Amino acid sequence: MRFLASARCTYCLNPAVYVREYEGIKFCSNCFREAVEARCRKTVIKHKMLRYDDHLAVALSGGKDSLTLLNILTKLERRFPLSSMTAISVDEGIKNYRDEALELARSACARLGVHHLVVSYDELFGVTTDEIAAKKLGQTPCSYCGVFRRKAINTAATMIGATKIATAHNLDDEVQTVLLNLLHGDPLRIIRSGPVLEDPRGKFLPRIKPLCDTPEKEIVLYAYLTGLQFQSIECPHGHEALRNDIRAFLNQMEVKHPGTKFTLLRSAEKLRAEMAADLALSDLHECLKCGDPTPHELCEACVMMETITA
Ligand code: SF4
Ligand code: ZN
Ligand code: ZN
Repeated sequence: MRFLASARCTYCLNPAVYVREYEGIKFCSNCFREAVEARCRKTVIKHKMLRYDDHLAVALSGGKDSLTLLNILTKLERRFPLSSMTAISVDEGIKNYRDEALELARSACARLGVHHLVVSYDELFGVTTDEIAAKKLGQTPCSYCGVFRRKAINTAATMIGATKIATAHNLDDEVQTVLLNLLHGDPLRIIRSGPVLEDPRGKFLPRIKPLCDTPEKEIVLYAYLTGLQFQSIECPHGHEALRNDIRAFLNQMEVKHPGTKFTLLRSAEKLRAEMAADLALSDLHECLKCGDPTPHELCEACVMMETITA
């Protein structure tokens, strides 16, 4: 992020606070916030993410990404009187970490007038992330936590009759995941993912990612300039070594070659388009145990529950 002492906004000539290196555009704070919101709206329209009458479930962790998403979607949703929105927060059971985020999520929903639902791993799965971490199983706590969060949000969204789930994955998350999948030897996951994941048979709730082409640093600045209160402390279990290395590598590349992250995102999009969208879902069926979508007999969450209780 580069702040400019004497530069002027490309659009209105007010003092600039940020330059988008990959586009060569300078922004004052107002134009910057408008540009971030406009990009999100454009992504929603481009990928036909929303219908006028959707009941949208927004995954809200209390971090900068999800609070930014909620803020922007609330403005968008107001334009559609037949649509509705519920924020869903998940309490993973992480002491001295999640409570603060849940409180920030609660107060943001109260301020924006959004209905808020909190579900916990303890009530849904009978186990917390702290307990999983203490068991020192083969994989990192994040591997379990990420899979259980997806399931918890799916369960809660289905429970309230939502028609779609919106998550706050940003550009950095998306391209890190593309490289992670390649390095894990699982390229088909790249095809199965994307800005919209929809089942043509209508069996599973569609998931959308309206911030998928917004860089993380722009979300941080947007949250800061908008005065959003978000959680800044890090999760005590969050040590995904490979993802951290990929993050550092991509950030270095972005500094040396602005636009690298967008190029990687577009490459993944081209791959998906080439390999046909329905290929991503044709091999998805219902988990034999819980009915959730999975390319295998059991979904990841059910397999993980078995390893925890074994
Ligand atoms: Fe869960 Fe890992 Fe995120 Fe912590 S960092 S909340 S353990 S996924
Ligand atoms: Zn301006
Ligand atoms: Zn299952």
